[in-house]
Amino acid sequence: MIEVKNLKKQFGELSVLNGITEHISQGEKIAVIGPSGSGKSTFLRCLNLLEIPTEGEIWFDGVNMTDVNVDIDRMRQKMGMVFQHFNLFPHLTVLENIRLPLDLGKMAYDKDYEAEIITLLELEERLKFYPYQLSGGQQQRVAIARALITKPAIILADEPTGNLDKQSGDSIFEFMI
Ligand code: ADP
Ligand code: MG
Repeated sequence: MIEVKNLKKQFGELSVLNGITEHISQGEKIAVIGPSGSGKSTFLRCLNLLEIPTEGEIWFDGVNMTDVNVDIDRMRQKMGMVFQHFNLFPHLTVLENIRLPLDLGKMAYDKDYEAEIITLLELEERLKFYPYQLSGGQQQRVAIARALITKPAIILADEPTGNLDKQSGDSIFEFMI
């Protein structure tokens, strides 16, 4: 599903990714492990072109993501992203945050699917709350719901439990795997 070919990323003089070649199949669950600063986030961000690779190619569902002619917004709708710091919009409610990718992408709502996600992530009682009114674990569950709402083919999660206490982290982790 994802084909990474000789991926390199430099920031000025700093060479962070030095030629990664990797095949990721549908249904695979892959963890990238390494010390802080080793390039895990950079690698993930290259997969959906939030970082532009210095060299190499990313193929996703038969499309070369690194091709300048690719409709990158459309491709990103198939790749949900969950950030360590949640990155929710503070002025939007839980429900508005969850629906944002659909609104931005002018994509159709699937009411049943949306209800399913909200139930699964136990957010029914929180839909009108703002992010500041939620615990860290709840905020991360909103971020996951937002990542799932477009029915993505893949979820890219960058230390999704890194900002949570152990108990919230464990339950998010169990949900993700
Ligand atoms: P990790 O996620 O494994 O902790 P990162 O991918 O965030 O590591 O960072 C890898 C290296 O790239 C670090 O040395 C970091 O300082 C550097 N780096 C990351 N993003 C940028 C950037 N936008 N500009 C310059 N250097 C960066
Ligand atoms: Mg990181």
